[in-house]
Amino acid sequence: MSVYETYQKEVLQAGLWLSEHGFFGSLRGTGGNVSVRIAGEDLMAVTPSSVKYHEITPEDICIVDLSSTLVEGERAPSIEAGMHAAVYRERPDVKAVVHTHQTYGSVFALINRSVPALFDEVAFALGEKIDMIPYALSGSPELAANVGHAVRNNANAYIIRNHGIIALGKNMDKALLAAELLEKAAKTYCIALSTGVPVVELPDDVLEMARGLREYEAEEAKKKG
Ligand SMILES: [Zn+2]
Repeated sequence: MSVYETYQKEVLQAGLWLSEHGFFGSLRGTGGNVSVRIAGEDLMAVTPSSVKYHEITPEDICIVDLSSTLVEGERAPSIEAGMHAAVYRERPDVKAVVHTHQTYGSVFALINRSVPALFDEVAFALGEKIDMIPYALSGSPELAANVGHAVRNNANAYIIRNHGIIALGKNMDKALLAAELLEKAAKTYCIALSTGVPVVELPDDVLEMARGLREYEAEEAKKKG
């Protein structure tokens, strides 16, 4: 049994939940990956490459350092481990990362258009808008660099052009909620746009309040290290 078993279990449970709820874009595929930061160490527990979550056990979850080098485990880490590591290096406040190919988030990945926060819950949990991350090949260092650059604005959800989404949280539950809220925001915005009626936006002062709160939380996390 690994000393990291608690983290491995958490990652596997999150992967199963996302898979069962269709967040990976297919129910039989493996279009996404999940990680959690290991407290007090420059390590993360991350899903292995190309395996079905219901066919693996917690010890199949890889332990890697923040340069994506395998520290413990038999399997190869997800090819997107570099993207997860880039988030943890840039954002001390982030403790869990979820990357999926969910449907409505992917709609905006195809039309290369960010999704505004149109509900209070989205503005406070995710950011004033869900920004686009520029395209680079899946698993490439360029994509990891694009993600690392984008997350500096302290938002908690992003759309990756022609690929999918990435959602962040100060714990796994918050990261999963961010992926869920992103899907709700993208779905409702997509349907609202399709009516042809102008979409009304949140007042600027609410967006300002949400930005202030997230920046404060990120600053506090930096102070704590
Ligand atoms: Zn992907």
